[in-house]
Amino acid sequence: MSREPNTSILLQTLLIPGGERKAITNIYKALHMEARCALTLLRTYWEEALRMELTDAQWEQALMVPKIISVNARYYKYIQFNYLHNTYIASARLAQIYPSAADRCPRCHSGNANFLHMVWACPPVVEYWEMITETLNKITKGNTWRDMAHFLLGVTRRTPKNKSINKILDLALILAKRYLAMCWKSALPPRCQDGLSI
Ligand SMILES: [Zn+2]
Repeated sequence: MSREPNTSILLQTLLIPGGERKAITNIYKALHMEARCALTLLRTYWEEALRMELTDAQWEQALMVPKIISVNARYYKYIQFNYLHNTYIASARLAQIYPSAADRCPRCHSGNANFLHMVWACPPVVEYWEMITETLNKITKGNTWRDMAHFLLGVTRRTPKNKSINKILDLALILAKRYLAMCWKSALPPRCQDGLSI
């Protein structure tokens, strides 16, 4: 017995003679609205994580950093993009997908180990960022502050307006984040000297 193909409403709209133009406009509007909603949710997520309200300028900066980061390699831009959108899958998210998976942090073994725990709040990671800050402070002559908004999102609040220092910080912070992503599942504490290696 033959069955009629299941034509979607969207496709039906496209198939109406002369209706293509309106349909494409509507599709574009729907996609644009979807993207705006997703970005609003992402902004709220980061504001809660940072415990601060981001100004429009700061949020624009966070969105632009993956595109304009002074480190040119595309790979580095993807790393920043992944941090902004927290695409790295932490144990907590994995446990939501697979109930049999443990939600524990591989380093400190605490439960509900989400993305922010893995990249910022886990005690060995806190120590890692402290060491990174100390090292960068020596290189930038006291111009580095351990600031979650700056380190993770690239939102600069106190960064000096010195281009060469900013370039050093851009590269160092991307390397430090790349290393955390590379040893995502490691039970060992991340090491500052590895984090700043090219
Ligand atoms: Zn941990």
